[in-house]
Amino acid sequence: MTCPKCSGLMVSERFSDFFLMFYAWKCLNCGTVVDNTIIKNKRKNSFLTPKLVAVK
Ligand SMILES: [Zn+2]
Repeated sequence: MTCPKCSGLMVSERFSDFFLMFYAWKCLNCGTVVDNTIIKNKRKNSFLTPKLVAVK
């Protein structure tokens, strides 16, 4: 998987929120985090989205 922003290498990492744990892709180059669940469902209004798409 490559980063949608910089085409850098992305690695699967485990993240934990207040009450849930999930795996997402993190870019080693720019730090962008992409969650597969959000990609599939395109839940743009998800409470997780703003934090997940934030870059640095
Ligand atoms: Zn990147």
